[in-house]
Amino acid sequence: MEALRRALDDPVRAFPVAKAGPAHVATLKTYDPPLETLEGRRLAGVRRRGKRLLFPSEDGELVLLLHLMTAGRLRWLGAGEAGPKSPAFRLSFEGGAQLVLTERGARKRAGVWLLVPDAAERELEHLGPEAFGLGAARLGAILAGDSRRLHSLLRDQRALAGIGRAWANEILHRARLSPFALSTQLGEADVERLAEAIDEELARGLELRERGAGDKRTYRVHDHLAEPCYVCGTPIARVDYEEHTVYYCPECQTEGRVLKDRRLSRLLR
Ligand SMILES: [Zn+2]
Repeated sequence: MEALRRALDDPVRAFPVAKAGPAHVATLKTYDPPLETLEGRRLAGVRRRGKRLLFPSEDGELVLLLHLMTAGRLRWLGAGEAGPKSPAFRLSFEGGAQLVLTERGARKRAGVWLLVPDAAERELEHLGPEAFGLGAARLGAILAGDSRRLHSLLRDQRALAGIGRAWANEILHRARLSPFALSTQLGEADVERLAEAIDEELARGLELRERGAGDKRTYRVHDHLAEPCYVCGTPIARVDYEEHTVYYCPECQTEGRVLKDRRLSRLLR
């Protein structure tokens, strides 16, 4: 998301919004103020909070908030560039450029909110501190205060903001920690390794994304089932849940244990 934010920060300022919408009925989460209120206004760049992108209007009166969830894709189309016929959301700028949100699959999860600044603040206040740069002391306090499986806690935006399911896999692998370990049972060295792994992996991801790398090159563990672990060569294992999938190296992370059984997986949720 940070790579996307940086890529869009300049282009969205260049021209005022010519047309806001249309938006898919399931994608647009607010109706007051109406989307058209954005038209004629200039955006003041892009900010990021956790996995959400914020587009404040230059006059400070409105904030457009976007959350891509897992299947949403945001694309910048230059003037004259062909785009999808019926995107989930479209923002057209004077001069002809467009910002287009699409979402694979029938279930529409990605969201667009148009808010006044106070409402935007309320929408974001439940988010935990930004994961990047958190440091071992603050991370340790979060882990100690919430007894949960590590993969689930890392993805929880209320605990710490900015880590999705894929990066939780990458980070835990780098930290050599089991995704199923309890947050309250980590030692001091574990917490330090985890804090370092968060910064290292998110920085690595940002660098690759800025160079235009796709998922397959960016992720080394996530979505690499049965491929050799980049550290030890053991085939990567996975556990499926309804909403996400945990990928891990049994050798590096779970002392050789492979957790495949679905009932067991459910117990470990
Ligand atoms: Zn390994």
